Amino acid sequence: MKDLAKVSLHDHLDGSLRLTTVLELSAAPPADTVDGLRAWINERSLSGDLVEYLRSFSLTGAVLQTAENLERVAHEYVLDLAADGVVYAEVRWAPELSHSLPVAAAVEAVSSGLRRGERETGITVRQILIGMRQGHRVAEIADLALALRETDVVAFDLAGPEAGYPPSLFAPTLDKLQGEWMPVTIHAGEADGLASIASALADGHALRLGHGVRIVDDVRVVDGEPVLGRLAQWVRDREIVLEASPTSNFHTAAFVGERFSDHPFALLDRAGFAVTVNTDNRLMSDTTLSAELEKLSAAFGFTLADHERFQLTAAAGAFLPEPQKRQLAQKIRASFAAAGLASGHVPH
Ligand SMILES: [Zn+2]
Repeated sequence: MKDLAKVSLHDHLDGSLRLTTVLELSAAPPADTVDGLRAWINERSLSGDLVEYLRSFSLTGAVLQTAENLERVAHEYVLDLAADGVVYAEVRWAPELSHSLPVAAAVEAVSSGLRRGERETGITVRQILIGMRQGHRVAEIADLALALRETDVVAFDLAGPEAGYPPSLFAPTLDKLQGEWMPVTIHAGEADGLASIASALADGHALRLGHGVRIVDDVRVVDGEPVLGRLAQWVRDREIVLEASPTSNFHTAAFVGERFSDHPFALLDRAGFAVTVNTDNRLMSDTTLSAELEKLSAAFGFTLADHERFQLTAAAGAFLPEPQKRQLAQKIRASFAAAGLASGHVPH
C-alpha cells in the first residue's frame, strides 16, 4: 500500500505531528518516551469521551505557537506523507488556534515548511484554511483564504463542534466565498446528521463534505440493495466527495458502531457515492493513509482495482486546476498498473 500513489484530502496539521516532535517541543509532555506518549494519546482517542480526546489537541496546539515550530511541523508533515506514498495532499488547519501569532504570519510559516518539504520530496501539498465554528473569526479566516488563494491556499473549511453550529450561522461569509468562486469543504455528517449535511450544501455551497458519512442515515437497505432518500441522491448524483476517515470516524462518531467493519464506507461505495479514504488526524488515530487502505481491505475485501478507484475519486475531487488533476490521475494509474504487474494481476 505504501508504494501506491495516493491522494490525501482530509488531514489536520495539528493532528499529525510526529510523536518525537511533540516530546521535543512540548513544555510539559504527559509522558517522557515515544511509547509512553503514544499510549497516552491512544488512551484519549479510545476513551469515547470527546473532552479526553481533545486533550491531545491541546498538547499539539501548545506546540504550534511559534513560526519556527509551525514551519518545522509543516516540513515534517510533507516528509511523512511522501514516505507513505502520498503524491498530493491538502493539509487543513486553523490559523486562529496559533493565537500567539498574527494569522497571516502563521500561514506564512506553514507555507514555508510545506515548500521546503515539496522541494525535498517532489510531492505537492496545498493548504485548506479552517475557521472554527465556536470561535469568532470565521469571516476573518475566510478573507485570509481569499487573499492567499494565489499562493498555496486552495479552499476554506469549517470545523469545530458540528452540532449547534450549522453552516447557516455563517451564511454571509459562505455566500461571499461562493461569490468569489472560492472552493469550500465543510465538516458535516461526522458528529451530526442529515440537517448538518443539508446546511453544508445549501448554505455552505460545499463542494466536498468533511467525512459526510452520516449521509448513510438517508440510505435504507431493502432486500440487500441500497435505497436513497432525496438528500442522499443529491450527494451521490452530484458526485460530492465524501472525505471519509474510517479510523477517526470509529473513534469520534458513535454511530459507526462497535467494530471497524461497521463503518458505512463499503455500503456508501456500493451505493455509488464518491467515497475517498482519509486519515483526519494521523497522530490521534495512530494511522497512516496506507494503514487505512490496509484496514479497509481487511474489513471489506477491497481489491487493488477498488483502491485505484478510490484514489482516482480523490484526484478528481482535489481542489486543483483540471490539467493538474489529470496529471495526478495519470500518476495514480501508472502506479497501480505497476503494482498490478508486480503482483501478476492487471487492475483493469
Ligand atoms: Zn477533520
